[in-house]
Amino acid sequence: MTFHDFNFNPDLVEGLSAMGYTKPTPIQEQSIPVILHDRDLIACAQTGTGKTAAYLLPILHKIVNSDHRHLNTLVIAPTRELALQIDQQIEALGYFINVSSITVYGGGSGIVWEQQKRAMQLGTDIVIATPGRLLSMLNVGDINFKHLEHLVLDEADRMLDMGFYDDIVRIISYLPEDRQTILFSATMPPKIRTLANQILKDPAEINIAISKPADGILQMAYMTYDQQKFGLLKHIFQEKEYKSVIIFCSRKETVKRLANELKRIIPSLQAFHSDLEQEQREEIMRNFKNKQLQVLVGTDILSRGIDVEGIDLVINYDVPPDGEDYIHRIGRTARAATTGTAITLINDMDQQRFASIERLIGREIPKTIIPPALGEGPAYTPGIRRSGGGGNSRGGGKSQQKRHGGNKHSHSGGQHRHGGGNGGGQNQNRQQGGGGNPDGQKPQHKKHHHNGPRNGPRPQGDRPQGNDNNNTDKPAQ
Ligand code: AMP
Repeated sequence: MTFHDFNFNPDLVEGLSAMGYTKPTPIQEQSIPVILHDRDLIACAQTGTGKTAAYLLPILHKIVNSDHRHLNTLVIAPTRELALQIDQQIEALGYFINVSSITVYGGGSGIVWEQQKRAMQLGTDIVIATPGRLLSMLNVGDINFKHLEHLVLDEADRMLDMGFYDDIVRIISYLPEDRQTILFSATMPPKIRTLANQILKDPAEINIAISKPADGILQMAYMTYDQQKFGLLKHIFQEKEYKSVIIFCSRKETVKRLANELKRIIPSLQAFHSDLEQEQREEIMRNFKNKQLQVLVGTDILSRGIDVEGIDLVINYDVPPDGEDYIHRIGRTARAATTGTAITLINDMDQQRFASIERLIGREIPKTIIPPALGEGPAYTPGIRRSGGGGNSRGGGKSQQKRHGGNKHSHSGGQHRHGGGNGGGQNQNRQQGGGGNPDGQKPQHKKHHHNGPRNGPRPQGDRPQGNDNNNTDKPAQ
């Protein structure tokens, strides 16, 4: 499945490409059609699965295709960090479309409060709020949610753990009955079921069980430039004797070239890819299984389904396309409670991808320095943010409304409408002072929209990494 299967608005698809998303993650594959069909949804998915884009993409598509623009979507999140992170994804995904959003969370002075309230009253497409602050505003201000179409509860289990059950129910009492409600939660304790029964109507249910690599796999990584990889492989094979090895490459051209080169130093080696006849493949696999063949160099067709015992080393010659592929590849070793080693070679271009894999598997893989004889490898700096011209710091203001895909600046009530932006929500390589994609490059086909010329860089800021601190507006219990 690709993103084209959803028939998204072309400008939204352009944003996806700029971010380097090539195919939907499993949670996206399953959630997007449900949300596009206006059905309520309860989804069990953890951070790292692509859950934020799973609900943002269909909502952004619907907003951009709608004739009447008003306060359309409310996203409630447990902490200001998560609220900001969601807003940054809206900014990145909505780079080429004309959608505005605002974050509303606790803290700050009375001025900030007024700014947030006024920004909501003046209208924005999406509000991302923490429950405490939003409820206080609803209690005192005349915020009009009359036309609200989507309510999203993100990390609902965490909100309940933090004691927000009643607040959420009260917030919902201000919202129209006729809305689509989407609930995302990392776990499904009975309290979530109770809440779901109370606020969702005939919801579709999706459960993404996230696979984790087996405990018996020793995971390692080397930072290396492409031209150092061959020398590094030689070093790995000289350092220790491995009986049964798979080397994965993402492209079959690389498989063929590498297999030819490596055969000179490892005679018991075969390439395995889709250009081989079925018979050839079966023979190679037979030899590999019965240990007559020591090393297989192959594409991801090797990563799923093949169950060969005793593979003691898996090498990712390049970083796999996504976390699921990584888990499948390295899962070829340490099968049936044995142990094995998985080594990934990360070049300077693949760092962001590897960082997302680490987020998915929920741990950082130690990076080993390549032997000095090979020269110096690149540093592992996936979070590097390049800076440029001015613009608002996202961390500074408590209330920020941005009009994506265009650029009007209004200084009334603390609203800021921005255009241009950075397609780099997938990673942290954000560029200040103009648009950029995840590689820090300017998108090639930036669109100019009807609502005014771009008059400055869009605000950028650090993407918060975790959302598990207590930086929230929940009053002390
Ligand atoms: P989330 O689970 O929403 O926190 O997302 C985890 C990470 O995956 C974020 O860095 C996203 O930008 C990234 N991501 C989301 N969807 C995709 C996709 N389809 N392809 C690649 N990366 C993605």
